[in-house]
Amino acid sequence: MSLSGLDIYRLLPKTNCRECGFATCLAFAMQIAKKAVAVDKCPYITPEAKITLEAQAQPPVKLITIGCGDSKLEIGNESVMFRHEDKFHRPCGIGFVIEDILSDSEIKNKLEKINRLKFERVGQKLEVNLIAIKQSRDGKRFSEAVKLVADDTSLGLVLMSNDPDALRQALEILKDRKPLIYHATKDNFTKFAQLAKEYKAPLVVFADDLDSLAALTVQLNNQGAGDLVIETAKKSLSDKIWDLTQMRRLALKKNNRSLGYPSLVIIEESDPYQEAQTAATFISKYAGIILMKGIETWEVLSLLTLRQNIYTDPQKPLQIEPKLYPIGQVTDKSPVLITTNFSLTYYTVLGEVEASKIPSYIASVDTEGMSVLTAWAAEKFSPKKIADSINKFGVKEIVSHKRLVIPGYVAVMSGELQDESGFEIIVGPKEAAGIPSFLKNL
Ligand code: SF4
Repeated sequence: MSLSGLDIYRLLPKTNCRECGFATCLAFAMQIAKKAVAVDKCPYITPEAKITLEAQAQPPVKLITIGCGDSKLEIGNESVMFRHEDKFHRPCGIGFVIEDILSDSEIKNKLEKINRLKFERVGQKLEVNLIAIKQSRDGKRFSEAVKLVADDTSLGLVLMSNDPDALRQALEILKDRKPLIYHATKDNFTKFAQLAKEYKAPLVVFADDLDSLAALTVQLNNQGAGDLVIETAKKSLSDKIWDLTQMRRLALKKNNRSLGYPSLVIIEESDPYQEAQTAATFISKYAGIILMKGIETWEVLSLLTLRQNIYTDPQKPLQIEPKLYPIGQVTDKSPVLITTNFSLTYYTVLGEVEASKIPSYIASVDTEGMSVLTAWAAEKFSPKKIADSINKFGVKEIVSHKRLVIPGYVAVMSGELQDESGFEIIVGPKEAAGIPSFLKNL
């Protein structure tokens, strides 16, 4: 558990000499508790206290990087059990297992599909993260498959093999790609630790239960392999969630460093619907990486959407820049639709305007990311605010007509908005789905 400011104060010299730049030792302690200042700013701290305080400055779940460049995946560094306490920081990596038993053309077909799994939703890019190559035949075929995959994707890679020699050959091929090595067990950990150290690669550690896993991570750290991802044995869904929850809880609440690593889950369901459901469960609680087989768009897009929702900051609604957006080949006669700058609202309206094929302007008013009714209730979407935005966006100069379309849910403000803006107010549909027919009849 993190030390409080007072716990930290008890470890300091308490002389208030000010050499750290703070007026008192207590003020300095409070800043350390907030992780806003380095412990070594105090020259008089004892070596024992320094070790304790530096350990407390480390994140309870270690940050692990897989891959490099723009496609690198960072997982870990989490600080809360529940999203509403702060936020979840590093989205769970989603990856796919490809076995080297497949022919070259089958592997290429899969890669082509995986490389196409890129989407945009509410202004954000949604992408998958990893490809795991699994050895099922000899080392030579494994290396061939690794090269084939590496040449055709920039995603992070996972090397799945029990053979240290085959892994070494594959690691030579991927020298600059920082792949994740899968996996060290109680029987092979010395050789796997050596490979992880030599190639500066992160390593998955596998054990049946949490006690064995904790013992193994300590041994691997002693051997110099500290960038770890942890995995327990295949279990029922509920037992696996129990493992993942306990690992997170022990790291966060009990400061258990030996389990303070992101986790990995392999999903081995043959039914794609069951696979999607299981993957969704682990994305929610608390997998750092999931590896699965299914690469169909319907399955992956739903998981990416779920992940996007879980890993947004609950304190900050997704927002777009408040401004006048021209949609399609607009002219000075195009209609102007008013909405808020909450991303989900804006992109829903945008989708329907595009579907109508009628070029229009969307005026997105700054409501601090609130949706229409919430913003109206909070007086962030008031007639005055909308009129000010219309002036600021220069709507009068851009269109030759004097009409604004407002969402049907705020029809009540039409009279006041007409007075404030000098525009005629037309009440649009309540739901965005009604926009295409509304625009066609306007
Ligand atoms: S330098 Fe150390 S002893 Fe001096 S005020 Fe700061 S914390 Fe206290």
